[in-house]
This record gives sequence, structure tokens and C-alpha cells, in this order.
Amino acid sequence: MAKLEHRRTENIPGDFYVDTTCIDCDACRGLAPEVFTAVGGQSAVYAQPQTKEQRHQALIALTACPTASIGTEKPDPDLGHVRAEFPVPMDEEDGVLYCGYHSEKSFGAASYFLKRESGNILIDCPREASPLIKRLGELGGVSRMLLTHGDDVADHSVYHQRFGCERWIHEGDRSALREAEQLFKGSEPIDLDKDMVIIPVSGHTRGSCCFLYRNKYLFTGDHLAFSHRRGHLYAFRDACWYSWSKQIESMERLLDYSFEWVLPGHGRRRHLPAGEMKEELKRCVEWMKLR
Ligand code: SF4
Repeated sequence: MAKLEHRRTENIPGDFYVDTTCIDCDACRGLAPEVFTAVGGQSAVYAQPQTKEQRHQALIALTACPTASIGTEKPDPDLGHVRAEFPVPMDEEDGVLYCGYHSEKSFGAASYFLKRESGNILIDCPREASPLIKRLGELGGVSRMLLTHGDDVADHSVYHQRFGCERWIHEGDRSALREAEQLFKGSEPIDLDKDMVIIPVSGHTRGSCCFLYRNKYLFTGDHLAFSHRRGHLYAFRDACWYSWSKQIESMERLLDYSFEWVLPGHGRRRHLPAGEMKEELKRCVEWMKLR
């Protein structure tokens, strides 16, 4: 629970606020950019929600915050409903949902849920949250948990025990998840199912992978994201834990694929027609080579 006595002075007066426990993960700024901004190395409220939709997005951000650093001065009657909303549909037709409930253990990384006839998939792991676990059970449970890399395993054992899902991670990041039931191996793409390709993208970590779903959604972990500040796709040069040169090579290999969505763990999402996405990815590679 956020604490009013720890309210940051950078917040604008009003109901919503961020307290001093914020870890600057950027999640709230991506979810409710009309309310939250970055200031002084943390988030703060720069405009109180004015519309019903803005208030709803601010409550989504409050629920997603990994450190419970967002609060309201008065109890919000809609908060219970919002907590039970997750996972939130991003594309109803393709059954792609956003889990919310970011975990501090993964520094606030996003995770996703795929509703599929051939078995539901969790992409990276949210924090333990009973409303989310209940809802995932109602949606048919989780048969597989695919981890993009070793940083984002969060409360994997809770979800494994509840749903019996197999945990998959690349062998290069196995040290982060010794309990993994399955390993991705090598540097070549793997057709996991007819709708899912595993693309090893060593660089951010040795065993980083991207997951391409239905040739439309690319789940990128911390390999690739959109930068709101720069206005283009980019990679985290200052948070490259293994090899920047390998990460550039891995990024170039993504040019062989077609996709419309970039869905990262950290950083902002990007949605573009496939042709425009490829052009922006080319610019990202050129940008990386100058770093
Ligand atoms: S989601 Fe929470 S921890 Fe992350 S930047 Fe916002 S207030 Fe800070």
C-alpha cells in the first residue's frame, strides 16, 4: 500500500499520487501516460485523471505497480473491479492478454497470457496475485510458461504449483531457473508449435529469446522495446548484461521475420503494420551499431 506520508513532493495536488518507494520501472508511465511522468529518477502524477477512461487507466497502473507505490487519497470504489480485470485483453480475436501485476523480483517487467485451444501460455511471470491466479484458472489455466530470459522468472514456482505448467527457458539462462522442466537449446529458431516460433537472441543475457506468435506478436523480453523518449525501437545499451555485439547480430536476425507487435518486458510496446515495423527495426539496428 502506498503511504500518504511518503507522498513525493513532485506529484501534482489531488487524489492520485506516487510515494517514495517507486523503483522507476516505467510501467505506470506506459499504462497511463496522461497521468504519470518521470521526474527526479522516479514517477510522479503530473495530471490528475479527468475522464472515466483516464481514471481507469490510472487504476490499472496502480494495480500493476510492482512496489505498490501508487495510491489514492480516498478509497476508490472501482479498485476491486479493476484488480479482478486482469489479464486485460490486448487483442480479443487472437487471445493475447496483458497480465499486469508486475513483480519487483523482475524489476517490474510485464508478462502476457495467450489463450489458445492447444494450451494456454504464460509469457514471463507476473507476481503472485490471487485475483490474477483465480482468473487464469477460469480461463483454462496455464499449460506452459515460456521465459524470455533469466531476469523475468518472478514467482514462477507459485504458478507452476497452481497450474502444473512446464517452465521453459534457454539453456544459456538456466542458472536463473534450475527447476525448469524444459530447455531451449542452441542458436537456431525452434518451431515450438505451428503458431509459435522461439528465436534465440543472445545479447541482453546469454540465453535471451524472443517468441513469435502467429507471425504477428513478438514477445521480446528485454531484447527490444519502443522508446517513448527517442520515438523509435531500441535496445537497452546500459542494461546489456552479456554482449552488445551479439545483441546487434541477434537484432539483425529478427529482420527475417514479419510481425506487427513488439511486446517487451521493459520499455514500451509498439504496434505498426508489418512493413513499417521492419523499416523501424532496420533503423534500430543502425542505431545500435553507433552505440
Ligand atoms: S509502476 Fe510503480 S515502481 Fe514502476 S515507475 Fe510507476 S510508480 Fe514507480
